[in-house]
Amino acid sequence: MAATTTAAEATRSMPRPLRATVDISALRHNLGVAKNHAPHARIMAVIKANGYGHGMLRTAKALVGADGFAVLNLAEAITLREAGFTQEILLLEGFFSADELPLLARHCLSSVIHAQWQIDALLKMPISAPVSAWLKINTGMNRLGFQPNELPAALQSLHQIGAQVTLMTHFACADERDGIAEQMALFNSITSSQQLPRSLSNSAAVLNYPEAHGDWVRPGIMLYGASPMSQQSASELGLKPVMTLSSELIAMRDIPTGAAVGYGASFRAPEAMRIGTVACGYADGYPRHAPSGTPVLVDGQQSRIIGRVSMDMLTVDLSQIPAARIGSPVTLWGAGLPVDEVASAAGTISYELLCAIAARVPIVEAA
Ligand SMILES: *Cc1c(COP(=O)(O)O)cnc(C)c1O
Repeated sequence: MAATTTAAEATRSMPRPLRATVDISALRHNLGVAKNHAPHARIMAVIKANGYGHGMLRTAKALVGADGFAVLNLAEAITLREAGFTQEILLLEGFFSADELPLLARHCLSSVIHAQWQIDALLKMPISAPVSAWLKINTGMNRLGFQPNELPAALQSLHQIGAQVTLMTHFACADERDGIAEQMALFNSITSSQQLPRSLSNSAAVLNYPEAHGDWVRPGIMLYGASPMSQQSASELGLKPVMTLSSELIAMRDIPTGAAVGYGASFRAPEAMRIGTVACGYADGYPRHAPSGTPVLVDGQQSRIIGRVSMDMLTVDLSQIPAARIGSPVTLWGAGLPVDEVASAAGTISYELLCAIAARVPIVEAA
C-alpha cells in the first residue's frame, strides 16, 4: 500500500527530466493557418494516433474551433462524444465490424465507407439515425475505396438507406509538384454529375492545391506544426511547433582520441572531446536509427548526437558548448529545432516521431 503511494508520488513529481511540452496556442495558431488556406471549406481536424502523439482529448480541446474531428476507431470517437464534443466525428477507416453499427448510430458518428461489405452491413441493419457516410473512392492510391466504376451502385445503395453522403478520396503525392493532377482529374470526372459534398485534401493539399479543397479539408500534420513537404519548412509555411521534447544532461565526461561511445562502439572520438549523456532513449520514442550527427540543442545551442541511441539515454557532443553542465537543458525537437530536421536526419518523417512518443513521457501543457 505504502509502496504504491510512494511510486505514485514519485511519478507525479517527475524527477526524470524528460518531458513533452505541448503548446496549446500553437495548435490554435496552426488551425488558423489551415483556415486561411482553405477559407471556404470546413475543417475536419485529424486527431488519430492520439492526436499525432499530443493527446487526443487535449488536441480536440485546443482545436474546438474545427468543424469536425477524424479518428480511427469507435472508442476514440465515443471518448470525444462523452467529453462533450458535438462536431461531426469521422471514423477514417470506417467501422471494422457490423457489430459497431448500433453505437455508431447512437453517438451520431460519421463513417468512411470504403468497401462493399460495409454497405451490405448497412443494408442489413436498419439503424435509427441517418448515417453520415464518407464514400471513399480509390483514385490511385490503392489502399482503400471503391473503384470508379463501382461508384454508381455504391451511391444508389447509400441513398436507399437514407445516408447523407460525402464523396472522398485521398492523395498519394500531394506533397509534390503536379502530385495530384491524375487523381484529381479522375475524381472530378466520376463525381462531376453529383451534387454532393466533397473531401480530398490532407495537409499537403490544403497548402498546395486550392483546387482540391472542396467542402471539407482534412489537415493533420500541419496542425501539429510540422511540414508535410520535404522542400518547405514548417516556419516557411507559417506553422508553429506544438510539441517540444526536452530533457537534461545527466552526465558529462572528457574522452581521449579513439575512445568509443555507446553500444557497438559505432562512434569513436576523432580527437579528444567532451561528451554528455541525455535522459532520453528509444523507449521514450526517440528513433534508435538516428545516426551520429542528428541535430540536438544543448543550452539552446545546436549540437549533434553521437553513438547509438540506447533504450533510456543518448549521447551528445559538447565540444562546442563549453558552458554545458549537468542539468543543462536539452531539446530533442520542437521549439528551436524543427522535428522535421530531426526526422530527416533519422531517415524518417515527423509524423512517425510525433506518433511514437512513448506513454512513459509525461506531457506538460503550455498555454
Ligand atoms: C491521416 C489522414 C489525413 C491527414 O493527413 P496529413 O498528411 O497528416 O495532413 C487526411 N486524410 C486521411 C484519409 C488520413 O488518413
